[in-house]
Amino acid sequence: MPQMLIGGELADASGGKTIEVRNPATGDVVDSIPRGTTAEVDAAVAAARKALPAWSALAPTKRAQLMHQAAERMKAAVPEIARILSQEQGKPLAHAVLEASRVSENLEYYAGLADKIRGDYVPLDDPAKIGFTIRRPVGVVAAITPWNFPLTLMANKICPALAAGCTVVLKPASTTPLATQRAIEVINGAGFPAGVLNTLHGSGAEIGDALVRHPGVNKVAFTGQTETGKRIMQLAAENVTRVTLELGGSDPMIVCDDADIRRASAAAAIGRFFNAGQACLAVKRVYLFRGIAEEFTAKIADRAAKEWKTGNGLAEGTKMGPLHTEAQRAEVEAQVTDAVGRGARVLAGAKRPEGKDFERGWFMEATVLADVPEDSRMATEEVFGPAMPLFIVDDLDEAIAKANSSVYGLGSSIWTRDLAKARRAAEGIEAGYTWVNDIQVAYDQLPFGGAKQSGFGKEHGLEALEGYLEKKSVVLGTG
Ligand code: NAD
Repeated sequence: MPQMLIGGELADASGGKTIEVRNPATGDVVDSIPRGTTAEVDAAVAAARKALPAWSALAPTKRAQLMHQAAERMKAAVPEIARILSQEQGKPLAHAVLEASRVSENLEYYAGLADKIRGDYVPLDDPAKIGFTIRRPVGVVAAITPWNFPLTLMANKICPALAAGCTVVLKPASTTPLATQRAIEVINGAGFPAGVLNTLHGSGAEIGDALVRHPGVNKVAFTGQTETGKRIMQLAAENVTRVTLELGGSDPMIVCDDADIRRASAAAAIGRFFNAGQACLAVKRVYLFRGIAEEFTAKIADRAAKEWKTGNGLAEGTKMGPLHTEAQRAEVEAQVTDAVGRGARVLAGAKRPEGKDFERGWFMEATVLADVPEDSRMATEEVFGPAMPLFIVDDLDEAIAKANSSVYGLGSSIWTRDLAKARRAAEGIEAGYTWVNDIQVAYDQLPFGGAKQSGFGKEHGLEALEGYLEKKSVVLGTG
């Protein structure tokens, strides 16, 4: 059974309790993990605090070297870790391989920045004084991650944190701890000093809460639901702990009447059905110009029905795994039922696949709905599953207004050959990202983060590194 990593040692929970991790495709137990308690929270934070002075003072090139070595080790471990990820999360093995590979890429990117952190020389009016800014790591980071992309979202936090000289206590979701624990052990094996990287496993409400309100934590880097993010913000206020919140989304996609419909429909299908729709950045509301609505609708319905073969993540040819939990599937089904009950038309899916292979897992077919009412749950809530609502608009003003009618503001996209329209969308849509004629993929080099209730703070890019550093002013009196 995997354990927690605390202060360089593998540890069980003090109460001896464990949590079973189940395969969403079969219901079988994949493995168990310790159910950590507040005693382990205290121990992990203490270990991270103890390790902080030496880690932050270590030569930046040495930190970079360790991260490069960790990246090499992660590359070699991809086949093993991807298999664990597919089993505990449900995603197809090929997609788990992609995700596991992203960890070493992210390590490399931030390893490259570790020795490029610097401050400024600032001339002051008084010639007898010199102003400087210096950069200091924020300190101990609590990294809390969800179950949909456990490895990517872990890497998004630990890589810039390590490069900046911070130490980390990581708590993955209790339903996807296994691949994360293994990845941390592989990374740690590169030779990080004890206490630089620590893991805790268990319930968010118990140890997650305790971690966020712990006075020894300097920053909480959180990815998860908006509701949980609100609670974290409240808890963090107790010690004025800084937070970055990567929360829910309901990304609009606008397809104009001059768009390349074949490419747009292919991107929409990937954007909605990849990871069984359980992605923060995902095509969650599609606004079609009236002139191309019929053509796009026929194409996307066809793609949903024919191209998104659902099945066990480890089975050959599976393109879409099950939903991650029974509750997750029930929620998406309820959102679809609500829309259909209010008059939406089912163009594909809206049901569970049948047959022996699907009896024990949380499967759902790729679903496309037209005529979805704008006050239905699919339009107003985040749909975290493989169900796509289509809406028709008459012009770009209407499309942008409707795109902005959500409480969320994470990603967005527009398909058009008209640069003026693309520019208006890029400037007008309230979101952290707009893709023009391109698929919704986040890049290491570009900052990523939400607007409105999708959160604040950035992951990826130089900006993520900034989030783990503090700028301090220094005045040197030379008189
Ligand atoms: P969740 O909020 O239920 O859980 C996320 C993590 O928070 C888990 O590790 C959980 O154990 C922990 N947690 C729960 N309650 C806590 C508490 N009170 N204190 C501290 N930690 C607590 O989210 P989820 O269901 O695992 O993930 C899906 C959500 O994440 C979706 O809304 C999705 O859009 C969002 N998400 C956002 C991004 C982004 O970058 N913006 C990326 C991926 C997922």
